[in-house]
Amino acid sequence: MSEFITTPEEVEEIFGKYFTYDELKCKCGCDKLKLNIKMAYLMLKYRILINEPIIPTSVYRCNNHEYYSLNHDGYAMDIPFKNTKHVYYLVYNLMVIGIKRIGINYDKHFIHWDINPSLPEALFGY
Ligand SMILES: [Zn+2]
Repeated sequence: MSEFITTPEEVEEIFGKYFTYDELKCKCGCDKLKLNIKMAYLMLKYRILINEPIIPTSVYRCNNHEYYSLNHDGYAMDIPFKNTKHVYYLVYNLMVIGIKRIGINYDKHFIHWDINPSLPEALFGY
């Protein structure tokens, strides 16, 4: 298997019922996906650990996307949260699986996390 997951078949094989291709793909209309394999297995581990459904806010964003960001180049996901207690639960468990780059957006109610090797360790708000 290559370093990145790109097809619905690979998503099905790794995530089974936990995440679908449509949830992970770019939302600009191109329907593309590029997801680092290590990131994919961390997402699966995290989903099983927290034991609650996640509909990701954003995973992959292609180069054409108006919201393109280095943060979403196959090493990241944004997930929604309900309230500050939920933020604590989600962030705590990200740390349990060893995630060292986490951002919390209280305005838009999502948590960003990534393992992008070119970005620094951080816990930030925005
Ligand atoms: Zn796109």
